Amino acid sequence: MSASKFLLHACCAPCAEYPVSDLLSLGIQPDLLYFNPNIHPRFEFERRREQVAKLGEIQSLSCIYVDDFRMEDWLNHVWENQYRSRCEMCYDIRMEYVAAYAEEHGYDSFSTSLLVSPYQQHDFIREIAQRAAERHNVEFRYFDWRPHFREGQAMAREHGLYRQKYCGCIYSLEESEWKEKVIADFPSDWEVLR
Ligand code: SF4
Repeated sequence: MSASKFLLHACCAPCAEYPVSDLLSLGIQPDLLYFNPNIHPRFEFERRREQVAKLGEIQSLSCIYVDDFRMEDWLNHVWENQYRSRCEMCYDIRMEYVAAYAEEHGYDSFSTSLLVSPYQQHDFIREIAQRAAERHNVEFRYFDWRPHFREGQAMAREHGLYRQKYCGCIYSLEESEWKEKVIADFPSDWEVLR
């Protein structure tokens, strides 16, 4: 009998730290999927992808990267026609892709590192991921990893992983109290790297 395949959507490396260690402790070896078209700007999109790769190397896990950078959906306010909020759109785009990928590539189940963050709309993510799983005939494994958020961040610090100061989209960068500091850390041509 073949071992069951588990796909973990990695929204970023620090958030994936605790979920990965928890899954490994349960005897589950997840493949990591980086699919985050919400991340802005391009430099940050690449940087977070590189950090997920680094976590994959540390934990000897396979990583899949999807080069889908879709700032236009956010700039064009696509959510105003189809969704209740930009975050609903953001979760739906990502969970739909992850569930479809899982189905297409023979995974039995999937989950997402978004479930570790106390800053995300946890119940909303759970509901959206569950619906995507049903559409694609794969299992969504729900975990409430939030009590371990700080632990995961500490692990990321120990591993020398970059820990970002905003959620990811252009609006969350605008809203971040760390905006000036974040932008100062971007390369000087970051505007053209969009
Ligand atoms: S705030 Fe975060 S979850 Fe909401 S749309 Fe922006 S990147 Fe996505």
